Parts: sequence; structure tokens; C-alpha cells
Amino acid sequence: MIYLDYSATTPIGFEVLDTYNKTSKDFFGNPNSLHELGVKSKNLMNSATKQIAEIFNINESEITYTDGATMANNLALMGVAMHEHKRGKHIIVSKLEHPSIYAICTHLETLGFEISYVGNDEEGLIDFDDLKKLIREDTILVSICAVNSELGIRQPLKMIRQIIKKENPNTIFHSDMTQAVGKVSVSMHDVDLATFTAHKIYGPKGIGVLYKNNNILISPILFGSGKTNMLNPGTPAVPLIVALSKAVRLATTDIEKRERFIERLNLKIVDALKKYSGVMINKTKYSIPHILNISLRNIKAETFLHALEEFEVYVSSNTACSSATLSSSVMAVYNDKVRASSTLRISLSHLTTTDEVNKFISYFDQIYRKLSGLHN
Ligand code: PLP
Repeated sequence: MIYLDYSATTPIGFEVLDTYNKTSKDFFGNPNSLHELGVKSKNLMNSATKQIAEIFNINESEITYTDGATMANNLALMGVAMHEHKRGKHIIVSKLEHPSIYAICTHLETLGFEISYVGNDEEGLIDFDDLKKLIREDTILVSICAVNSELGIRQPLKMIRQIIKKENPNTIFHSDMTQAVGKVSVSMHDVDLATFTAHKIYGPKGIGVLYKNNNILISPILFGSGKTNMLNPGTPAVPLIVALSKAVRLATTDIEKRERFIERLNLKIVDALKKYSGVMINKTKYSIPHILNISLRNIKAETFLHALEEFEVYVSSNTACSSATLSSSVMAVYNDKVRASSTLRISLSHLTTTDEVNKFISYFDQIYRKLSGLHN
């Protein structure tokens, strides 16, 4: 098997799984219980949270666990909207967000919120002048992803924050960091709210994080019992939290070294695929090497994906989470419907080997020739 869909999800790391299993077995007490077993679980959970907080140089009380990035994004956007609606109902998002952000925005529109979409240049970089113009007195939130999930375009969050706060210091800045954490270095201090999930960083499925700066107030959107976290009440998933903490530690070590290795693999694929007249490489100077997006002319991406599957090679078409026919990110950057109608995403990892890449290139060639009617 050649797995090249690491941006959809990653396999859980052995050490992480081991941590999960051991914690499930030895720390099954409910952290909300007052007895010894509960206290034992709570202490372990708190030390896992402390470790995550130290890695990101934030406060433990700024971390809320969710079941993944979708829930964390909901909590962030809905939480701000519900808390700030008396001050304003204007929200700005980029055209490069994950469908989960757009889904929340669509819902917020039905509640009377106004959503503006900030433009970007031909490299995918947020248009700073447009952002400045869009920010108003009643703009309560700007949400811009750190790394786009389809083209891997990375945004300069620090600069974006400066622009937002200069225009309106009360505007809250959220960033979906799901495709950034563990791939590139990120700073929570560039934003007020941030979200990510464990299953993209070799952690377990079912746990994500909302970082919320302690100076920011948001309203809860979930209600229940349990005092460990006001924003996500109920029994905390201690084994998932401890496993997440391990995954974060492992994924944030050696980032640069891994990135350099992945860059070489990425360039090897680009070099091989650029020779096909029916392949367009959707890569800009801001794309991180972990995500490589291509468009196919006159071949359906889904057909190509299934042909690769015959060789046990796994990639994505559009995002794994979207059934949209046109890639919204490719549209946002290239404004070309043909280019956006048939896209494949090849996502790489430090676990990807040169041999896998060579095999992928060879299978690609065979499939391309067959599907495009080319002959040897
Ligand atoms: N945000 C981004 C940028 C993503 O890439 C994804 C998943 O692909 C999500 C959010 C949603 O993550 P989850 O499916 O874990 O909720």
C-alpha cells in the first residue's frame, strides 16, 4: 500500500496508541469524580494539558478539548457570534477555508450574521488591502486558516493579526490550524482562537483542541455537567487527551528536518508530473510541501483516484470532507473552472519513502497514458 493522503488523516503512531491503551486500562476513573480513581485520572489529564500548554507556550486554562477540528471550529465561530452579537454581526473569512468553516457561516447567516469573503492574490496570499477595507466597527471576527487544506497555502498570521487589530482592536482573530500543526511551526500568540485535531498529527481520532486566549470571552454552545471545562462539559476523554499530548509532542519535534525531507519528495513528484500536457500543478510560493495539488485536463479526478486505488495507492480528490464538484480553493487562487473541476491532492509525510514516490510516479504514468489515450 502507498498512502499519500496524510492530510485527510494519519495513521496513529505506535507510541501514541500505546499511551492510549495504557491510559484506558489504568486510568479509567472519571476526572469529575471526587474519589481516588477520579483524582488519579484528573491529575494525569492535567499533566497532559500542561505538556500541550508548554509546547505552545500558552496557559493550561486556554485549552478546551473537543472531538475534532469541526467541533472546535463550531465552538470558536458560534461561541464568538453568540457572545458578541450585541456588538456586531459582521464576520470575515477567507476563500481558502475548510468546508466546516463555511458550513458554520451559512448557519450564522440564517441567524442574521453577515459574512464577507476576503480576497487573495494569485499566489493565494490574503489581500491585505481588501482585509483592511472589509473590517468595520461591527466586525466581531476574522477567521483565516493557517494552512489551506487543498493547496497547502500558508498565511502569515502575525501580519494578518497586526492588520486586524490596527483596524479594530475588538475584532477577534481565529485561525483553523488543522493543516498547520505538526507540519510547520505555529504560534498561538498570533491569534486569539485556534483549532486543530489529533488525527492529522498521528494521534487518535475523536479529539481536537480549541485554543482560546484567556482575554477573549466566548459563549458556550454545549451545556451539561462536569466542572473540568465550561465550553465542553461532560466526562473528559482522558486516554484521548493523554494520547493527544503525546502526539503533539512527537509531531512538533523535528518539524524543519521533516519539512526538508518532504520538500525533496514533493519536488520529485512535481518534476515527474509537469511533463504531462494534461496535468497542471496547483502550487504557489506559499504552498507547504506536505500538500501537492494537481488538476487533470479531460480526465475525471475520481476516475484517476480509483485507478490509483487499483495499485493500492491512496490520494484525495478535492478534500476528503467535501463533495463539491469544483474545488473552491483552486477557484480562489486560479479562478479557472476547468482547473477547479478535476483536482487530486497528494499529501506527503515524513513516513513517505522515496521508493513509494518512485512507484507512485510509475503508476501515475501508466494510468495517465491509459486514460488520456496516449500510447508508449
Ligand atoms: N479544518 C481543516 C483545515 C481540515 O483540513 C479538516 C479536515 O480535513 C477539518 C478542519 C475538519 O477536521 P475533522 O474532520 O477532524 O473535524
